[in-house]
Formats: sequence, C-alpha cells, structure tokens
Amino acid sequence: LRRVPSLVRLYSKEASLQKEDSTTNIKDANGIKGHDMLAPFTAGWQTTTLNPLVIEKSEGCYVYDSNGRKYLDSLAGLWCTALGGNEPRLVTAATAQLNTLPFYHSFWNRTTKPSLDLAKELLETFTARKMAKAFFTNSGSEANDTQVKLVWYYNNALGRPNKKKFIARAKSYHGSTLISASLSGLPALHHNFDLPAPFVLHTDCPHYWRYHLPAETEEEFSTRLAKNLEDLILKEGPETIAAFIAEPVMGAGGVIPPPATYFEKIQAVVRKYDVLFIADEVICAFGRLGTMYGCDKYNIKPDLVSLAKALSSAYMPIGAVLVSPEVSEVIYSQSNKLGSFSHGFTYSGHPVSCAVAREAIKIYKERNITEQVNRVAPIFQEGLKAFSDSPIIGEIRGTGLILGTEFANNKSPNDPFPPEWGVGAYFGAQCEKLGMLVRVAGDNIMMSPPLVISPEEIDELISKYRRALMATEERVK
Ligand code: PLP
Repeated sequence: LRRVPSLVRLYSKEASLQKEDSTTNIKDANGIKGHDMLAPFTAGWQTTTLNPLVIEKSEGCYVYDSNGRKYLDSLAGLWCTALGGNEPRLVTAATAQLNTLPFYHSFWNRTTKPSLDLAKELLETFTARKMAKAFFTNSGSEANDTQVKLVWYYNNALGRPNKKKFIARAKSYHGSTLISASLSGLPALHHNFDLPAPFVLHTDCPHYWRYHLPAETEEEFSTRLAKNLEDLILKEGPETIAAFIAEPVMGAGGVIPPPATYFEKIQAVVRKYDVLFIADEVICAFGRLGTMYGCDKYNIKPDLVSLAKALSSAYMPIGAVLVSPEVSEVIYSQSNKLGSFSHGFTYSGHPVSCAVAREAIKIYKERNITEQVNRVAPIFQEGLKAFSDSPIIGEIRGTGLILGTEFANNKSPNDPFPPEWGVGAYFGAQCEKLGMLVRVAGDNIMMSPPLVISPEEIDELISKYRRALMATEERVK
C-alpha cells in the first residue's frame, strides 16, 4: 500500500476547480470566506474555502448544476425523490391545491380535506398490522420527536411515570433535532451538542460483518444481540424502559440490512417487557426495499411508525407518525380528561404537502412501485456486488434499491484505511467527475436511486461506479 497523504485536499482542489464559476456570492467578510449559508452537515472547510455544488434542475434520475453539468443522482436527493426529479402529476397536485387552499391548519378540530384523505390512505396502505391514527409533521426528525412525546404521554396516562427511557441502536440515524439526534447512534451528532439526552440508551448495531464473533452464524449473532438487549432492559429495570426504535434497514449509518432472524428475536424481547416498538420507516417506506414498508419485509409488528421522505417523493416537506389502536386509545382517553392533546405544528397536515403525498401514493399504487423495484433491484444489487472482490472493498451490502460500499484494507472490518487517506472522499470525487452523485461518509459510500430508475440507467450507474473504483484502486495500491 502506498500512502496517499493528500487525497482529501486533492478532492477539494478538484472539486473547487470544477465549480469555480458556480456561484456569485463568494465573499470574504469578517475573515470568513464562502457563501452566506450555514450549511447543514457540511464541514467548515467546505463552506469557507469551496464553492458549493449548486443544483439547478432535475429530470428523472438526473440533476443539473448551475454550469449545466448533468449528474446521475444515485442517492435520490437524500434517499427521498422516489419518483425522480420531474413527475408532472405531483406538480399538478401541488398547483391545484395552492390554487384552492394554500394553507389551513389542523388545530382545535379544524382541518382540511387533503390531510383527512391522506391519513385514511396511509392507514389503508400500512398492512403489517392494523394502525388506527396518523399524526402529521414536517419531517422525519419531527416525527421521531413526536414519537417520544406520544410514548411519554401514553405512559403518564397509564400511571407509569418511570417508564420513560428509550433504547436505540449504535449507528442508527433518526434525525437531527435535540431528541431525534439523541436517538441517533452516530457520535458526530452528539459531540459538542451535549447529547444524547440522558433518557436515551444505545444497544448494539446489528452489523454482522463488522461485529460477529469468529465462527458465529448470522442467527447466533442475532441471538446474542437480542440477549444483550434483554440484559440492558433488565439492568435498567423494565419499569423504566418505554420504547425501542429501529430502522428496518439502517440507512445513514452505512446501509446495514438486519442479520437473519434479528427482528424476530428483538421483537420477542421488547414484547416480553412491555416495551413499545417504533419502526423508523423514513427511508424504507414506499417501496425502497421491494415491499411497500420495511415492516412488511421483516415481519415487524410495530406500535408506532415514522414516515417522511418518499411520502411526498420529497416534493413537499411532510412526515407522519402512525399510531396503533392500543396506543391511540390511551392517548384519546387521556386527552379527553385533560381537555386537549397539546402537541402539533403550524404545518401539521399542510394541505399542499398532503395533496402531493396523496398523489405520490396514488402513483406508487397505479405503477405498482414494489413490482418495479423488484424488477430492477437484482440488476442494481448483483451488478454492484460483483465488485465485492476489489482489494480495497471490505463489504458491499444492500437490498432492493439501497446499497452501501465500505472500503477497508485486507477485506477486514478491523483494518480501516487511515482517515487522512480519504479513500471514500476520493471515490466520491471520481464519481462526481464522471457525472454521478453518491453519499460519502468516511469510507462508506451509499446509494439509493429514485425507484423509477430504468435498467439502462442502472447500467450507467454501475459503469460509473466501476470507473471510479478503478481510479480509487489505482491511487491506493
Ligand atoms: N429517520 C431516518 C431513518 C432518516 O434517514 C432520516 C433522514 O435521513 C430521518 C429520520 C430524519 O428525517 P428529516 O431529515 O426529514 O428530519
């Protein structure tokens, strides 16, 4: 192996050359060079020394920057533009609603037809178990914050004031508000933000490749993780543990599908101790895994579900919480006693967002989106997993239209490349140069293209991946 000390710098230099003319608002005021926005999830050096990649237009699975360069958007925005970049029916639905009723709220038993219709529609589409009510938010983070408040309210109503702790998993991502960042199991979301909040505990990340013991099968690994969860519940006291939250397939933590029998064993443990199960379906719902919901794929029977992203194919901000009959019954009786359920947002059930989400769901059904995903997913999965024997790849993992690549030395989870080599960043820069956008997090690369991607576009995606991989192998060897 040859040490490549300045890959990260090289990435920034190339990117900066490429984007030289992309913005006009670069300035040097108060010693801070860059644009005017404090950019989310962006390293300081990127906003202070680099012009951003400014995306101006989208079309199907492609986006175009302000210089007219075309990119295959292999992450569907942020795992969300399920129907691609220019679905006219969603634009028509938004425009029609804007022309009729651009806004009305849902407080105090006033509401709008699009929000009532969407709630009904969602309860009908979720069939892993019967759900009774839908609550609307503006994002996945707000949905998960709402989950915590609902669960606390529920336990207060049941006279269990100590049953308030949450268990989430290492490497999970549940959002970036105070509570959802606390639930997330990624250190970067906690460091320097004084998080996680003290009521949140984290249990094992279910990543078999990285964490299994020698000779341990996937099933045995799942048994051990379920046992660790049970031990944690017993150590804290079951009377203090309110809920467990999990993504069916972990997304931002590196695309980690569950090992065999994992959810079966975890659900048995939480049920045993009267701990509610929250399925964070923000990435998985609406076909991404080849089933309408992640819960369908892994036989999860949740008490609560979080939705966002593909709910509106990201054309309008909207999230939702689905609540089981048992939990909503308790919440209803308590709020009747108190006089009101005092939680909600100005834009809960925003009529334009709801109208767009309704249309998106209608399209998923009409076009049989799960069938479409199951038709193209093998080309995507098998085409990319064929690169698994690359000497710089540790693991390629995924299912349906979601996939993660992890670079590692000697194919070992215990032998990462030195972070300063920036192997993942170099691969990402190569993809960008070739006209494809991927998600880079350290040496993890993530992809989740629009669900409407065609076999020809998948071939293009694989070809760009291959060329970027060859260039990266060349740099690292
Ligand atoms: N939950 C999961 C599984 C997510 O992937 C995300 C975002 O990526 C969120 C919650 C937070 O959603 P939002 O960014 O809409 O707040």
